[in-house]
Amino acid sequence: MSFYLKRFFVNKSTSLVSGKKLKCPFCEKLYGYETNLRAHIRQRHQGIRVPCPFCSRTFTRNNTVRRHIAREHKAELNLKAFEQSNHSMLDSVPQ
Ligand SMILES: [Zn+2]
Ligand SMILES: [Zn+2]
Repeated sequence: MSFYLKRFFVNKSTSLVSGKKLKCPFCEKLYGYETNLRAHIRQRHQGIRVPCPFCSRTFTRNNTVRRHIAREHKAELNLKAFEQSNHSMLDSVPQ
């Protein structure tokens, strides 16, 4: 009795693992349930993407962009701030 029950559960779980999985159309992630896949797509591939002003990368959060800029574009950030302050100084100079 318990043998059959065990076998049933084993079969069920293996068919869940090797059976039809839903593949994300944007990346290689596999999901067993459509709701999980939808949540993943919303979080990873849709949502509001914040673009980095220095490169083509996009991020899901403002904090992530700031952290990315601080880490990867420190030089550019300083240069940009310098250029901007220079421009505003030039603009304010009367002709
Ligand atoms: Zn994906
Ligand atoms: Zn960047």
